[in-house]
Amino acid sequence: MQSRLLDLLDLDTRLTQLDHQLRTLPELTDIARLESAEADLKAEVVRTETAVSDLQREVARAEAAVQQVRDRAARDQARLDEGSGTSKSLQGLQHELASLARRQEVLEDEQLEVMERVEAAQAAADRAVREHATHAEKLAALRVQRDEKAARIGAEREQVAEGRPGIVADLSAELLALYDRVRAHSGTGAAPLVQRRCGGCRLDLNAVDLSRIRNAPEDEVLRCEECGRILVRTEESGL
Ligand SMILES: [Zn+2]
Repeated sequence: MQSRLLDLLDLDTRLTQLDHQLRTLPELTDIARLESAEADLKAEVVRTETAVSDLQREVARAEAAVQQVRDRAARDQARLDEGSGTSKSLQGLQHELASLARRQEVLEDEQLEVMERVEAAQAAADRAVREHATHAEKLAALRVQRDEKAARIGAEREQVAEGRPGIVADLSAELLALYDRVRAHSGTGAAPLVQRRCGGCRLDLNAVDLSRIRNAPEDEVLRCEECGRILVRTEESGL
């Protein structure tokens, strides 16, 4: 019956390994890294797109200013072409047209400069959107990969765990309770005695303990003096 403890030990060890694999999937670190960068990339998209729309408003303002000067110049030109009015007022119109032309030139230069800034800002925004999209794709792919691996490990875990009730049924409630107690404390509940050594803490048993174990009845539950694990005698115990 005690040899079934070693079957239980093997099974529980495998379950522990699988749980560890599940917790330490390499994808998890990559996902965490990408997730922490996600907010910054998203903020960069918002920042650059806001800059573009701010500049676009500036372009509209600059266009309106140029148009206003053009309209004024067109009106002046029409009045000048009519030729009505005093020569003084016609002269005044000519002066104004000249100053409007200078003003228009300045405004058009400003407009051009803002349009160039829009272009640069738009390029930066496009770049930010692309970076964010690439990042999101990578993150999604990693999540799929993580989920696939987790599902595989989960399926194996389920399969391994299915064997547990069969083993547990072969053990007494007392022995099982002891196994669980030791396991909660030491990580594993039992250990094989191999070549006079505890398979749990790997310490050699002294002559006194060995002789006691050698003479103990087969169904007696033995414990390692060092680590407290249930010691299971095997063919290789070297007794
Ligand atoms: Zn031990």
